[in-house]
Amino acid sequence: MLDCAIIGGGPAGLTAGLYTTRGGLDSVTMYEKGMPGGQITMSSEIENYPGAVGEISGMDLMIPWPAQCQKFGLKHEMVEVTRVSKEENIFKIYRADGKVDEAHSVIVGTGSRPRRAGFAGEDKFFGRGVSTCATCDGFFYKSKEVAVVGGGDTALEEALYLAKICAKVYLIHRRDTFRASPNTVARVKRTQNIELVLNSVPEEVYGDNMGVTGLRVKNNAGDIRDINVPGVFTFVGNDVNNQTLIQEDGTFLCEMTKSGEVIVDISMKTSVPGLFATGDMRIAAPKQVVCAAGDGAVAALQAISYVDELLNH
Ligand code: FAD
Ligand code: NAP
Repeated sequence: MLDCAIIGGGPAGLTAGLYTTRGGLDSVTMYEKGMPGGQITMSSEIENYPGAVGEISGMDLMIPWPAQCQKFGLKHEMVEVTRVSKEENIFKIYRADGKVDEAHSVIVGTGSRPRRAGFAGEDKFFGRGVSTCATCDGFFYKSKEVAVVGGGDTALEEALYLAKICAKVYLIHRRDTFRASPNTVARVKRTQNIELVLNSVPEEVYGDNMGVTGLRVKNNAGDIRDINVPGVFTFVGNDVNNQTLIQEDGTFLCEMTKSGEVIVDISMKTSVPGLFATGDMRIAAPKQVVCAAGDGAVAALQAISYVDELLNH
């Protein structure tokens, strides 16, 4: 029986792992289906994590975190969790390998995943010219032209990254103002090889057996433009990873918002005692590494108190 099971090994889960183990819980396992670090490892540059100065990538930032936790006894299972349920006072952790573990408390931090924009050909060419990760795939388009879709921080930051590698970046956004921070917008506007294609949405990405050859976009006036690029990067927001909380009867284990975020109080407590939710998946998440890490610490301190109360009082 674990004192605490942590689901997800991003900034939230890793920080929860550090604080639970260092705070005295004996048996804590973090379940992470891939390499620990979370979605920030896909980011080419992070400049707003306090103390991390200079040109550092998301991967650079996250590399030391797992070892720091393991030093205090955090165990890492590289396996996907399919479901978390609670019977009496015991949580059951259903794993993709068929095993079921048990825990007194659970901290969920499964984050979010890139959303599809929904234009024709996007799924067909995904992984063959359509991508959601500039650091992963940008190099394939070295000295070539690419298109970026979206107007948030991710789209603009990744457009800036791609502009350093590629000959030209077409930034396609459905409005004429950006959701991204003003500083980032100013940097994009100063970058000579980024062309803004505003008030426009992609209609279709097309290509041949080799991959993508172009993107057809339509502007608000109904004009069609063909942009001949071999690479299309979409950054149109994220959906919350809440699947582990779905029960056999299709209901959620705890209270959720209509858009699928976990409802928590300021202590990261959900509506189920002993279950905490952290990071991008919780209601009103600022979707920042520093905030996810903060959530992990808060949830861990609460989990320590919960387990102590459960076992000793
Ligand atoms: P995540 O980082 O999403 O981690 C969740 C982890 O859970 C993942 O590793 C996933 O594999 C794992 N997981 C999911 N489901 C399961 C399961 N069922 N079983 C086991 N494991 C599971 N924030 C900033 O502060 N500054 C930035 O500059 C910045 N840039 C960004 C750039 C990009 C390209 C992106 C995509 C995001 C950026 N963000 C930035 C946002 C930041 O990455 C997130 O807010 C943060 O990573 C959220 O942390 P998290 O721990 O909640 O979730
Ligand atoms: P986001 O802020 O939700 O922006 C998504 C963008 O995609 C918006 O501009 C949106 O247009 C556009 N869009 C949505 N659906 C579309 C569709 N179907 N077709 C075309 N365009 C579409 O997502 P994000 O940029 O990934 O950022 C997510 C969160 O992480 C934010 O809170 C962000 O601040 C944070 N983040 C922070 C940093 C940083 O601090 N440096 C870096 C990256 C991300 P509209 O604007 O018209 O809605």
